[in-house]
Amino acid sequence: MTVSSAVQNADERYALARAAYREIPLYTPDKTPVAIDLRDNTNLWGVPPAAARVIADAARAVARYPTLYSMDLKRRIAEYVGHGVTPESIVVGCGSDEVLGSAIRGLAEPGDHFVYSDPTFPMAVLYGRMAGLTPVPIPFAADWDIDPDAISAARGRVIYVCSPNNPTGVPASRASIEAVVTNSDGLVIIDEAYAEFAGVTSVDLALENDRVLVTRTFSKAFGLAGLRVGYGIGAPALIREIEKARGPYTVNALAERAAVAALTEDLEWVRERVAETVANRVRLREKIAELGFAPLPSESNFILLVVRDAVGLTGRLFDLGVGIRPYPKLPRIGDAVRMTVGPWSMMQTLLSGLRTAHNEWL
Ligand SMILES: *Cc1c(COP(=O)(O)O)cnc(C)c1O
Repeated sequence: MTVSSAVQNADERYALARAAYREIPLYTPDKTPVAIDLRDNTNLWGVPPAAARVIADAARAVARYPTLYSMDLKRRIAEYVGHGVTPESIVVGCGSDEVLGSAIRGLAEPGDHFVYSDPTFPMAVLYGRMAGLTPVPIPFAADWDIDPDAISAARGRVIYVCSPNNPTGVPASRASIEAVVTNSDGLVIIDEAYAEFAGVTSVDLALENDRVLVTRTFSKAFGLAGLRVGYGIGAPALIREIEKARGPYTVNALAERAAVAALTEDLEWVRERVAETVANRVRLREKIAELGFAPLPSESNFILLVVRDAVGLTGRLFDLGVGIRPYPKLPRIGDAVRMTVGPWSMMQTLLSGLRTAHNEWL
């Protein structure tokens, strides 16, 4: 087969494909280059300085395997997270995506229910489907909180709570999270990819209850998305099962060193960037509301706007050099667009683009 016919036939079904994979699409968000890219909620100030230095110095480390389960990194994460977390309560992975996928694969059987509030982070739902679980979407309650009664009634072997939720930006209330944990008997995964921007956490619940796993990442506040490091916090017995499903060596030697350096020397840099993000988010949301758009009340490093035509607005901003993420026809929301909050100069370009688009449509 020639290369071009292989490409042409990429849509064809593969005979040996697993049944659970047949309807699963490859995750392919738009990555077309754009001057100001606000599409993926990463740290728009860049890489923290100590992490950058360690990466430049680490070339000699890569001829050998990394450590099996990253004990040094786990110790630093435990100190950073606080709440009395110990390294035995931590699993690290190639992004928190790998922790999510390993937890679902390691703890649930094909046919079990994967319960989540819709709309949420699509990769979590895809990992559920890849493991053969049946997705059970539950509508959000009023105020964008999760609906604990509907979630508990759905009998999830795995219940996924993203808090703050992507793409709405709103955290689940503490009372709702506690109700879900109390009134269900499956694994409750609380995805805290944006916890640094919200200032609330459920880590204490993960230490008290061996059915609760909290996941976090170095991809957002920490500015290390390209290295792929994330972690989960839970009871040591749960963590061991997830590590079995994950396997050894998945956090590479550069990533491990850079994450340790970031936790040891860059925390002030990270905290300053988080404070700036939160200040810019509040300011941006006010300005966007003044333009006549309807932004949701985010507690993360992005804002979701309800709009009339998500794809049209995204295309218009792209022409003006600004990349945002379109969400056509979200459940309970309708058309919306999501944009990452970054340095104010980028936000000014975004605002002038939104102003132009808005005026054209008035
Ligand atoms: C970005 C994001 C992640 C991050 O995943 P990594 O694999 O750690 O880069 C996880 N969960 C949510 C909700 C996210 O938005």
